[in-house]
Amino acid sequence: MSGVLVIAEVRGGALRPVSLELIGAGRMLSEQGAGELSVALIASDAEAHVKELKLAGVDEVLAVPSPLAHFEAHVAQAVLEALIERTSPAVVLAGHTVDSLGFLAAVAARGGHGFASDVTELSWGERGLGAVRSAYGERLVRELDFPGRDTVLLQLRPGAFAAAVAGLGAEKASSERLDLDLEGCARSERIELRDPPASGEDIAKADFVLALGRGVGARERVAELERLAARIGATLAVSGPLVEAGWAPRARKVGQSGKTVAPRVYLALGISGAAQHLAGMSSSRTIIAVNSDPDARIFDVAHYGAVADLFEVAAALERELA
Ligand SMILES: Cc1cc2nc3c(=O)[nH]c(=O)nc-3n(C[C@H](O)[C@H](O)[C@H](O)COP(=O)(O)OP(=O)(O)OC[C@H]3O[C@@H](n4cnc5c(N)ncnc54)[C@H](O)[C@@H]3O)c2cc1C
Repeated sequence: MSGVLVIAEVRGGALRPVSLELIGAGRMLSEQGAGELSVALIASDAEAHVKELKLAGVDEVLAVPSPLAHFEAHVAQAVLEALIERTSPAVVLAGHTVDSLGFLAAVAARGGHGFASDVTELSWGERGLGAVRSAYGERLVRELDFPGRDTVLLQLRPGAFAAAVAGLGAEKASSERLDLDLEGCARSERIELRDPPASGEDIAKADFVLALGRGVGARERVAELERLAARIGATLAVSGPLVEAGWAPRARKVGQSGKTVAPRVYLALGISGAAQHLAGMSSSRTIIAVNSDPDARIFDVAHYGAVADLFEVAAALERELA
């Protein structure tokens, strides 16, 4: 068993950003000695994405045309089982996404493979594959290895791994179209795909995030600080309680049950730093925290911190940057 197999994802005819993160993580394992990096795409238009995937810096692209226009978990399961049989990879990387949640664990259970979900760190060394995931609502960090497993299937947390740079890879990778008999595989029917209500920018793609916590104290203050965010070129995000209070839409929530973000700058105002919040932002490149409590846990992960009233800092930002 050797090599890394990435399961790429498409939605609405475009590669999902997590696909490039999986390739970035796969490339890292490959360079650490895990073997060649292949990427498989299971989609009705799989061949349309071959060039883009090659340019992301993989060794091989496997395009598997699906009989269905949309994702279907049993089709994906059948394809992955066939791919593992055919390519015997040491590691399979998929996203910790709603698509992969539907089939990856089933493939692992049926095949007796190693498995872990929501993985945030990876390595390849003398003992083979190592992975890190948290447990008990991010209170514990678990380091995993997989003794006795020839093939290990992992779901990687979106936003936790640096994306391969699209367009920089050489077009030397090989590609192959695999026609598998998938008619009759599907056991569920998609009735409708509803997009979440539009909430403006996607916080997961933002370069500069201004995140607000319960310390803002009132709904009106969220609106004021949202205007500040717009003036200083930041994207507004929030902690869980602001969503629960109905002060901000769910799409703005950062954390374990919200989105994972990794911006260049994460400016947290009035956020205590609960484990469930840190789960979604601790990979940010520079974290700046403002909190009136010097013992707030957010300061444990912050690169820069101010023990201060957030409204005083907001006023200063307004003066300096807006
Ligand atoms: C299963 C589960 C999933 C969850 N998922 C998420 C999630 O995805 N995202 C998430 O964020 N939470 C999540 N939570 C909730 C999480 O546990 C915390 O309750 C939440 O993150 C706390 O949000 P907060 O920091 O804004 O509020 P608080 O913990 O109340 O902190 C408010 C902070 O503001 C400071 N403050 C107050 N006034 C000021 C001021 N004027 N100036 C400066 N600082 C001030 C206070 O010192 C305090 O530190 C989840 C919880 C559970 C159980």
